[in-house]
Amino acid sequence: MEQRELVIIGGGPAGLAAAVEAYDQGIRDILIIERDSELGGILQQCIHNGFGLHIFGEELTGPEYAWRFIEEVKERGIDYKLNTMVLDISEKREVLAVNEEDGLLEIEAKALVLAMGCRERTRGALNIPGMRPAGIYTAGAAQRFVNMEGYLPGKKVVILGSGDIGLIMARRMTLEGAKVEMVCELLPYSGGLTRNIVQCLEDFDIPLKLEHTVTQIHGKDRLEGITIAQVDAHRKPIKSTECFVECDTLLLSVGLIPENELSREAGINMDHITSGPVVNESMETSIEGVFACGNVVHVHDLVDFVTDESRVAGRCAASYLRGKHSSEQEDPIVTKAGEGIRYVIPHHIRHQLLQKENKLFFRVLDIYSDVKLVVRCDDQILYSKKKRKLAPGEMESIPITDQMIVNMEGYSEVTVEIQQSGLGVRECKK
Ligand SMILES: Cc1cc2nc3c(=O)[nH]c(=O)nc-3n(C[C@H](O)[C@H](O)[C@H](O)COP(=O)(O)OP(=O)(O)OC[C@H]3O[C@@H](n4cnc5c(N)ncnc54)[C@H](O)[C@@H]3O)c2cc1C
Repeated sequence: MEQRELVIIGGGPAGLAAAVEAYDQGIRDILIIERDSELGGILQQCIHNGFGLHIFGEELTGPEYAWRFIEEVKERGIDYKLNTMVLDISEKREVLAVNEEDGLLEIEAKALVLAMGCRERTRGALNIPGMRPAGIYTAGAAQRFVNMEGYLPGKKVVILGSGDIGLIMARRMTLEGAKVEMVCELLPYSGGLTRNIVQCLEDFDIPLKLEHTVTQIHGKDRLEGITIAQVDAHRKPIKSTECFVECDTLLLSVGLIPENELSREAGINMDHITSGPVVNESMETSIEGVFACGNVVHVHDLVDFVTDESRVAGRCAASYLRGKHSSEQEDPIVTKAGEGIRYVIPHHIRHQLLQKENKLFFRVLDIYSDVKLVVRCDDQILYSKKKRKLAPGEMESIPITDQMIVNMEGYSEVTVEIQQSGLGVRECKK
């Protein structure tokens, strides 16, 4: 069995940033394993700009952002294997992978970084009645067809789901000459970034139908149209509002699922809310020496946050390899999603191992305006900030400052929560 110090599964922005950081911390024997034919992950198909504002202070396209990290990997001579699929990982950090050239590869790693990203929810998960005609795609698949393969999937398009991929594809299909009839969203608000609603829908006069869903698919060989309906407060379609919309293409942007089959099989503890592994401040999972970062842990909307988080994973994997990182240092502080918060990453914090680059990442449950975002240990407030608007589509982060680290000492739990203040506040819903 081949022996390696550090194996990174996934060559997207998370895997690349973790590799570069581990190298810069002195680790030389690193292997990135990527199933695709090139490095860069999902960014290779995201040719719109808007990447890198936080990290580089400029707006890059997805491939440009990826390229900056690919170059850093190449400059450092970090090893990578393309067209190589990881099939299995074990609790002992043994990796089983396969490719055409080498056949089956068995590698024993002293440390592992999981950076497999996420995949899209498909029609199967939605149970929309109807035949299975051509013309129904996930938005990401359509994005790949248009941006990388040079195919336009259709000319009269409806998009179900107003997450960022759906919004970006509404603009992309329009720019390529298709007519985007509407974007339907089940919830009373869009799941995408505000800037994407403005730049991708409003600028092109594409209607956003909130609290609407698709109830029927029409057509046998090719999609001929769909029935849409308004939904009630329980998200059930209201029969009397049903109407037919003619279209030849339906793009689904109905959620992303972290790719964690490998993590689950290895016995890593999972968080059922994020569908990613439970991690500590070092982005280490429940298996010692196995780290995770990026969309495999929780779905990010901005790649800059993926880079931040992955640098922590790379740095901590390096310090684990140098024996400076012990999992038995102290009882961890548990992070808790309080009122109005869906989840908090990391799940556990070992106070003495916190670094000032650490952040608390979280998403809110609903749309809130004029509220206070609070981080507290019992009734000691560690952080408090007024927020004019918070939305589930925008991931939030709070840097953990030196003062917060000092103040956390001696506590067993840290809670992130929304506190209501002033007028115009919407009820916090759990
Ligand atoms: C359509 C779209 C638009 C976006 N727009 C923006 C934007 O405007 N601005 C912004 O900042 N962010 C944007 N993002 C978010 C950002 O691109 C992602 O958060 C980021 O790419 C996630 O990085 P990752 O490395 O975790 O995952 P990925 O980029 O998905 O990389 C994971 C890699 O792991 C590989 N892999 C998975 N399983 C295996 C296996 N078993 N064996 C080997 N390899 C494996 C995959 O092939 C892939 O290359 C967008 C994302 C999408 C999908």
